[in-house]
Amino acid sequence: MTPLSPIRTTFETMRAGNAERRIRFGLGERRAALDRLASVMRANEKAIVEAVRSDLGRPEAETILIDYLTVLQDIRHARRRLHAWMRPRRVAPTFATFGASGKVIPQPRGTCLIISPWNLPFCLALSPLVSCLAAGNAAILKPSEVTPASSALIARMIAAAFPPDLVSVIEGGKEVAEELLALPFDHIFFTGSPAVGKIVMAAAARNLTSVTLELGGKSPVIVGEGADIERAADWIVFGKFLNAGQVCIAPDHLFVHVSIKDRFLSALRARIAKAYGTAAASENLCQIVSDQHASRLSALIADALEKGADPVHDNGGEGRTRGPLLLQGITPEMLLDQEEIFGPILPILPFDDLSPVIDRINARDKPLALYIFDRDQARIDRIISQTTSGGVGINLTVVHYTQANLPFGGVNTSGIGAAHGEWGFRAFSHERAILQNRFLALPLLFPPYDRHKMRLIGLIKRVLG
Ligand code: NAD
Repeated sequence: MTPLSPIRTTFETMRAGNAERRIRFGLGERRAALDRLASVMRANEKAIVEAVRSDLGRPEAETILIDYLTVLQDIRHARRRLHAWMRPRRVAPTFATFGASGKVIPQPRGTCLIISPWNLPFCLALSPLVSCLAAGNAAILKPSEVTPASSALIARMIAAAFPPDLVSVIEGGKEVAEELLALPFDHIFFTGSPAVGKIVMAAAARNLTSVTLELGGKSPVIVGEGADIERAADWIVFGKFLNAGQVCIAPDHLFVHVSIKDRFLSALRARIAKAYGTAAASENLCQIVSDQHASRLSALIADALEKGADPVHDNGGEGRTRGPLLLQGITPEMLLDQEEIFGPILPILPFDDLSPVIDRINARDKPLALYIFDRDQARIDRIISQTTSGGVGINLTVVHYTQANLPFGGVNTSGIGAAHGEWGFRAFSHERAILQNRFLALPLLFPPYDRHKMRLIGLIKRVLG
């Protein structure tokens, strides 16, 4: 008999524990698991900051905000709400089931796979783990190979906090991910690009494994004529240049009403100078993750400039150090108008009529986020009702991610399913339908279908038909 690979062995051991976990991994044990995750996070706060600095050159404040506190907040939220989330939900009887009581009980799916990207290496591996453990599952985590220091630290933290048959980290790139995806997991939670999302979904289909896909895309911002210009500039600069634009819900491109364009551009420039200075390098700005991604961004910029884009503001930069860049004169032929930018470049598209902006958004892949800056509620409502996106931020950017009482996720190309809070718990649960007979009258209709039963069916038809 050929020996099982280490990956297969880890998976089989976890899966063998599924039945036992259903009995033993109750409310108290799940809370204890969440507490262990919180403790190991706290014990490694400095190490997390250093790992992300080494991988991404990111300022400490940003790491604390987006890779550390986000996870601790998710743990706190889940810990407090878990009892309510785990409770069976009674449902009202229907006509045919009068006399039987129905309820929905959330049960653990079993052994789950979490694949995460490099841009928020801790948050995007560990926040799904919070939901996964809260729902009573075991998990294999596969962090991104693009951020090796973070991946190695996640592996050490998890090994210190959990037995390997509850949570294990398997490090590696595409080959490792492919080997994992061939296994019949009970659920796969993938965060990453739409291109790899399709590969994950195709692999999951071979085992009919359920999936949650948290993907990306081009999230637009609309700055309407009624916008508070200073406030809009503040939020847009924060949301766009946080993590140097390497955020799935970062504003990708911006539509601004022509009547306020010049004033708004001045406010953007002033805000950029205040936050990041006028040079490419700033202690407040994260770096580009790798030379390969830096080359991709340089190619996007070169292509746009060659095709006539106008740099209305540029902090410049080379290699992995890239300052904020605002570009105007964008056309559909430019690559940065076609692919997700995922970097500190913001294309500005002036408009005077909202209808073509709405048509343009609807003609493209459904975005993960859509941002609106305006004080005119009718215009805000019109944009929301006439477009679609995973989520909407009004007079803010990116912080909707941290509202754990809202579902977080995309639509079609930007994602399938939802994460965070109760939605994350439900993604990792099977909602099992239970119907228990008390005094169901249905046997009165069981065959043989004689005259009396036909008369009864006739009476019911009169009520229901
Ligand atoms: P990616 O899709 O390249 O990689 C994500 C993960 O998939 C990594 O762990 C990687 O090793 C793995 N992977 C790569 N090739 C694979 C394959 N062939 N089969 C299986 N797994 C494979 O994404 P990335 O570059 O790490 O991250 C950037 C993307 O992620 C952007 O599109 C961004 O918008 C998106 N994103 C989405 C969210 C969200 O919550 N919706 C959050 C962050 C990032």
